[in-house]
Amino acid sequence: MNIILESKELVRYYGTHLAVDRVSFEVRCGEIFAFLGPNGAGKTTTVRMLTGFFTPSSGTGLINGHDIVREPTEARRHIGVVPEEANVYVDLSVWRNVMLMAELHGIDKRTRTERGQELLEAFDLYDRKEHEGRSLSKGLKQRLMLCMALVSGPDLLFLDEPTSGLDVKSARLIRDTIVRMNKEENMTVFLTTHNIAEAEQICDRVAIIDEGRIAAIDTPDALRSVVASRRSVEVTFSDGDYQSLSPEGFQGVEELKPLSQGFKLYSATPGRLAQQVAASALEKGLEVQNIRTLEPSLEDVFVHITSGKNKRSENHE
Ligand code: ATP
Repeated sequence: MNIILESKELVRYYGTHLAVDRVSFEVRCGEIFAFLGPNGAGKTTTVRMLTGFFTPSSGTGLINGHDIVREPTEARRHIGVVPEEANVYVDLSVWRNVMLMAELHGIDKRTRTERGQELLEAFDLYDRKEHEGRSLSKGLKQRLMLCMALVSGPDLLFLDEPTSGLDVKSARLIRDTIVRMNKEENMTVFLTTHNIAEAEQICDRVAIIDEGRIAAIDTPDALRSVVASRRSVEVTFSDGDYQSLSPEGFQGVEELKPLSQGFKLYSATPGRLAQQVAASALEKGLEVQNIRTLEPSLEDVFVHITSGKNKRSENHE
């Protein structure tokens, strides 16, 4: 399996504050890899080191085999970067912003014109190609940033919180287009996010970062299996005294969460538990409105990992 990006024990201090603490991971060619973590976890700092905006305090990284510290120009040659804050040229038109970026990458006129047009169409910006950067909303600026990062046809695209604070339409368009380019052009994507649903939906593998350290790396499915006991049964009732079922007393219940017309029961054996609940409800003449078993979500994994159980004092050294 080809490795396109490797982080090797990256460390970054701000003064005496340790923001990134020996972060190591590998990203394989063609995958969508997410860096998921709470605010302040060290995601942006890691991306800035890997993309050459910050020098690491120690450690290094490789992009396409080139060392980001010793060979920064080669390492950056085939990457595209969309930073957390959109920084388009506000005096230039949408079209000129994209063309300027292509020219900086030495893309010939015919290719940049074709690719620029394709990208503006894909991101629904073509009608605004003559609009100045300053006239764009946050969502439109973010889409323009993507066009600027993609016009050079990068092998590896870095996206820092690509959909944070955007409206649903812009967020979906960005997500769908990234996935399409990943599939059609085999472009590897490295994205940072604190949006768990986004990581779950589009990523092949996820690294969870917490307080500057990697807490877990795996596929969303494998991470979910870490917290198998967070399987659950959700049941709601049409009416009646459903509390009389005393749900906490059912076999295998590990935790109960009340819902507006029912409850959610956490259990490692949700199928068996659902049968017990249904049988008991029938016996008491209660009408079940909805009953379903749920697998743990990535959110459950995330809460489990970042809730203190795996903090460094207990887990390391
Ligand atoms: P967010 O999701 O909020 O963007 P993040 O995971 O990207 O957070 P970073 O921005 O990398 O986290 O910040 C990591 C830590 O470093 C935080 O504690 C933050 O306060 C601190 N930090 C970030 N930038 C600086 C800076 N320029 N000077 C001092 N400390 C900083």
